Amino acid sequence: RAKDAGKNTHRFFAADMNSQTFERLRLENALRQALERREFELHYQPQVSAVSHTFEAVEALIRWRHPTLGLVPPLKFIPLAEETGLIRPIGVWILNEACRQLTAWDAAGIKVPRVAVNLSARQFSPALVQQVAEALHASGLEASRLELEITESLLMQNPLEAVDILHQLKSLGVHIAIDDFGTGYSSLSYLKRFPLDALKIDRSFVDGLPLDEDDAAIAEAIMAMAKKLRFTVVAEGVETLEQSQFLQTKGCALLQGYYFARPMPAGELAGWMKGRSVMRLSADEVMI
Ligand code: C2E
Ligand code: MG
Ligand code: MG
Ligand code: MG
Repeated sequence: RAKDAGKNTHRFFAADMNSQTFERLRLENALRQALERREFELHYQPQVSAVSHTFEAVEALIRWRHPTLGLVPPLKFIPLAEETGLIRPIGVWILNEACRQLTAWDAAGIKVPRVAVNLSARQFSPALVQQVAEALHASGLEASRLELEITESLLMQNPLEAVDILHQLKSLGVHIAIDDFGTGYSSLSYLKRFPLDALKIDRSFVDGLPLDEDDAAIAEAIMAMAKKLRFTVVAEGVETLEQSQFLQTKGCALLQGYYFARPMPAGELAGWMKGRSVMRLSADEVMI
């Protein structure tokens, strides 16, 4: 009987594997065609100054507008794009599209100071420097208005090569931020060797602020260290006024999260900016 059960388990497992493999293949094929079919789009989430709440930057976040599945979030396809290497051509598209969008906003008189673009580890090669230079050149965007978000684990995979590539990127004039800071395997001693501009405190530490003592301790420690090393600190996943106030008091420079805005299509940003300025005006009036 035990043997039968084992067999059944095995058979179910195999059937499951087949459907999973099939699903994966289907997704992989669709992903291969998505670039040609122009199914990717970038959404943009604002970052605001913690002190004045002025609009300072956007983070570009990719979405896949699949013909039947609808809007697919990045965690559903970026891992597969990374495994298959498709992230390289997709990554080039992301860089170009984000830079192009900023200059399109410029031309329309919409003031978006800076854009942050996420990079996958597989994009992080010597070829990246050329790709970034080309995206800047093709769009005419000033390099200091582009920030590249990388992860700790990417840096730690090959620190020596990473330092070299980062220096080349920095010499183009772009900013570098560490995303999801605190979640990866990181060696703090390396931080000072990398030419970095900003640390983004991971959402998981912002979650419990201000009451959770562990989250508060970690967030404060990151901010204290960042201050000494002269990095800008950005908090992600800010959902409440209390989180926003805590982070501001402890010296966080920029805030990003649903409390201020969700990621939105490029076409909605101007409306968001306008709505805010109306709100801020009427708030001022109330104070007078
Ligand atoms: P990330 O770079 O850490 O991006 C922040 C994620 O947190 C985004 O999810 C954003 O929508 C979400 N978020 C922002 N504010 C809040 C909040 O207040 N509460 C909550 N619960 N979530 C918030 P999204 O867009 O689904 O992206 C997930 C991850 O996918 C990103 O994490 C990034 O690692 C990756 N990703 C997104 N776009 C790209 C891209 O263009 N290239 C690459 N390589 N990876 C990307
Ligand atoms: Mg990011
Ligand atoms: Mg993050
Ligand atoms: Mg991330």
